[in-house]
Amino acid sequence: MFDHLSSALQHEGGLSRRLFLSYAALLPTIPLLGQTAGSAKKVTFSADPFSMGVASGDPDHESVILWTRLAPKPLEPGGGMPNHPVEGNWQIAEDDAFKKVVGSGNFKASPALGFSVHIEAKGLKNDHWYYYRFRAGGASSPVGRTRTMPRPDANPEKLRFAVTSCQHWEQGLFTAYQQMAKDQPDFVFHLGDYIYEYAAGKGGNVRRHIGAEIESLDDYRVRYCQYRTDKDLQAMHAACPWFLTWDDHEVDNNYANDISEQNGVTPAQLLLRRANAYQAYYEMMPLRPSSLPQGPHMQLYRKGSFGKLAEFFVLDTRQYRTDQPNNDGQDPLNEAALNPRNSLLGAAQRKWLFEFLKTSPGTWNILAQQVMMALVDRKTTGDTAAYSMDQWPGYAAERQKLLEHIRDHKVSNAVVLTGDIHSNWANELRVDDLKPDLPTVATEFVTTSLTSGGNGSAQVKSLDILQARNPCNKFHNRERGYIMCDVTPKTYTADYKVINEIQKPGGVTTSRAKFVVEAGTPLIRKA
Ligand code: FE
Ligand code: CA
Repeated sequence: MFDHLSSALQHEGGLSRRLFLSYAALLPTIPLLGQTAGSAKKVTFSADPFSMGVASGDPDHESVILWTRLAPKPLEPGGGMPNHPVEGNWQIAEDDAFKKVVGSGNFKASPALGFSVHIEAKGLKNDHWYYYRFRAGGASSPVGRTRTMPRPDANPEKLRFAVTSCQHWEQGLFTAYQQMAKDQPDFVFHLGDYIYEYAAGKGGNVRRHIGAEIESLDDYRVRYCQYRTDKDLQAMHAACPWFLTWDDHEVDNNYANDISEQNGVTPAQLLLRRANAYQAYYEMMPLRPSSLPQGPHMQLYRKGSFGKLAEFFVLDTRQYRTDQPNNDGQDPLNEAALNPRNSLLGAAQRKWLFEFLKTSPGTWNILAQQVMMALVDRKTTGDTAAYSMDQWPGYAAERQKLLEHIRDHKVSNAVVLTGDIHSNWANELRVDDLKPDLPTVATEFVTTSLTSGGNGSAQVKSLDILQARNPCNKFHNRERGYIMCDVTPKTYTADYKVINEIQKPGGVTTSRAKFVVEAGTPLIRKA
């Protein structure tokens, strides 16, 4: 086991030997991944074991990951499951009556991975919709719907996807997912803050988290399961595949690699917590086996494509980042913010991204990531600017390198998708956003939160001053919702959908503002 972890810890952004040993000393509480305790036995369940429904994700042109998790008691540690592996089976079909089954098999769900099931359904037709379901112990799961992507050399005419983030359980109902499902996207990007780690009652009173701030593997498991019992969230997962990535709250607010936001937490302690959090994340999400965590490391950044129409780069700006400069405050772009050693991506992810951006065949190159890339001065009074050090301004040199790379290699139609800050923004990105005379090289659409922050507001105080100080910004508001994107070879349309009520059922989701970018010119105009 030591060898296994030791090699896992050699990853870029990995640990010194001293740190590894102090981390390893804490290890006995980490269960062994992939180890199955005994052979599978037939079981019957006291309640529906498919209490969290089904999900699918990370599709390519001929395969997709199908997910479920067995838990008759999802809100209890252990999920109400026995302490031995359990067998079941799965099917994927062309029709929802399962008359034309095109793939099937058995699975063994084990306690080591929280009885989660990740099936790679392969050999599928490209650009095709499918239905799937699971069975175990005489019970049947709900039926999910998923799809494959077009072949890499195909020239699809259109693509529709949703962009969502930040779904604080205590601060609102996930009603907006009802409209998202009606919008019928091909897939969903979730950009992080899928859960929040805080103790019950810390965030709001629409609903209540279970337990104290989460730290152990059981804590994280119960928190994810609580969120996934939400029927609107379940229905959206069952409606189409998702590409998910995390931000900070999947582990701890504003953590950076192995550095906690709080003082007095050692890197070894944070890595132990991170290992728990990453394992629970893997267990809950429809991710490929390549994302199976190894201790506190997990490969989450990855690529996808929709024929030649769009290439997706799903990024991880938490696991490898250097510590936020200026004590993670809001500061001017001072020496600490401009330090060329600051990195959100880490060297390996940056190399990977730069390489594939340079050679991308995609008409649109979509960076699905977490924190705002535009250099936005958040102050509306006084002479001193204030940029968020947790976002790309705190890593301004790497940001500049990325935008220069996009410019110099003529990367086709780069669009940055962002979550994190519980507000809507549409930004034109330049190598230096403080110089509006420079050409725009990319476009950024920041989605607001689904619920975090509670009912928002359409009116932003001093918006005119904010926009005068930040010519890169073309739209900003603070309502709740998501973005629905329609992409064709000629245009990228971002429709900012907002919901009028999230603290009570019955909220209505409508279009607040719609923007278009034309291929070849990364400028934002009203649709
Ligand atoms: Fe958030
Ligand atoms: Ca965040």
